[in-house]
Amino acid sequence: MNLYAYKETLDTNAAAGGVFWLRESNMALPSTFVGETISSIDMASLSRIEGECIVFVSSVFEAATRLVQDVRKAMKRSDYLVFVSENELSANWVNRLLSSGADDVVSTDDRQLSTALKKAHHHIRYRRTAAAELRDAYSNLTFVQNAIDQLPAPIFFKNRAGEYLGYNSAFLKMIGLAEYNVYGKTALELFPEELANHYHRADAELMDRGGTQIYEGRVKFADGTVRDVCFNKAVIQDDDGNAAGLAGAVLDISERKAYETALKELAERDPLTRAYNRRKFFEAAKSAITHAMVKGRPLTVAILDIDHFKQVNDTSGHLAGDAVLCALADLMMTMFNEPDCTARAGGEEFYLLLSDTDEKQAEERLEALRQAISELQVDTPAGVMSVTASIGFCALRDGDFSISRPISRADKALYCAKNGGRNRIVSAA
Ligand code: GH3
Ligand code: MG
Ligand code: MG
Repeated sequence: MNLYAYKETLDTNAAAGGVFWLRESNMALPSTFVGETISSIDMASLSRIEGECIVFVSSVFEAATRLVQDVRKAMKRSDYLVFVSENELSANWVNRLLSSGADDVVSTDDRQLSTALKKAHHHIRYRRTAAAELRDAYSNLTFVQNAIDQLPAPIFFKNRAGEYLGYNSAFLKMIGLAEYNVYGKTALELFPEELANHYHRADAELMDRGGTQIYEGRVKFADGTVRDVCFNKAVIQDDDGNAAGLAGAVLDISERKAYETALKELAERDPLTRAYNRRKFFEAAKSAITHAMVKGRPLTVAILDIDHFKQVNDTSGHLAGDAVLCALADLMMTMFNEPDCTARAGGEEFYLLLSDTDEKQAEERLEALRQAISELQVDTPAGVMSVTASIGFCALRDGDFSISRPISRADKALYCAKNGGRNRIVSAA
């Protein structure tokens, strides 16, 4: 098969690659064409020609569709293919040739050929403009993608069906997946079921309600770190104002959360022993009393004072005293953890809140504490030390609407414990 190259000289700026004739015999060019035959080229070199080409091809019927398919394969996407028939073609044949890849089907009639060439140039110009617009759109998209890729916060966009249609590098890093694993997938396809359902519920609520949605949470990143994050999401609307999807950013607030936790600790804990302070104790007592009264449950308060603690300081030094205070606080916090409460009331005195505990049960638990303290061997800078403690306690009674009355009764009981010889527990009269 010879490919006779013909360089059209009338309108060269449209089909930059040239106009070509492909035919089985070296028949003369139709007079419509102005130009020169430049060479005979093979089909494979068609695809290597720079710029758009217009190719006219003619053949006998039997081989026509096959030829059109072969030439189409060898052509670039921007090229234009015209099948020229030397005989009259049925509509059926025209359709077959068009669906085989021809852009146009014409007869050898000069007028038809001339119109076909004009159409081809027009089409190529149109395609070139469309391609330029596409390149512009792609370049804008690339610019936006590059821009969001620079941002440290993970960013994503989803459509109404919850499929991820956009995201930045930080998002891919967060979830530890490559781009091709994410595009078009839903949360259910990417994350564990429970987490995916959580995201799905939040998304559905936002899509139904519209506007923006801000909430905090903890997320395990792909690198294994668990971070406190704030999700900032907003609904994306289509031209009719309907929810078309949503955009989200995941802000890392771990540092702020750490400050908040530290501040909270400072506000409610004793700096030496890490036990709760008085302020937190009275706050906890208030809600414990409400709970006890509403639910009809018992509640007991106890005051513990270390025996002869002054002597520890006097004989072994203040640091040894501190170590003893910390060791006792640790023990109490272990034995009287949430929903109980251990607080340092001041000096070597502690308050305990025993929730859901009546006086009888309290006696058992506090006796266990007293004994554990007396057996405690505390490592201090001055060597191993042990101490004892006295405890006064009292359950909530009818008419106790605040913790102050049970505390004052427990205090009197503590006084009795001290007077009774220390290292003992005494319940209020
Ligand atoms: P009692 O058995 O009657 O309770 O005698 P005590 O010696 O324990 O009582 P006292 O009230 O005389 O002494 C309490 C001591 O606790 C005095 C004080 O120096 C010490 N203390 C208070 N706060 C701290 C602290 O933060 N660190 C240390 N190391 N000692 C403290
Ligand atoms: Mg004491
Ligand atoms: Mg004291």
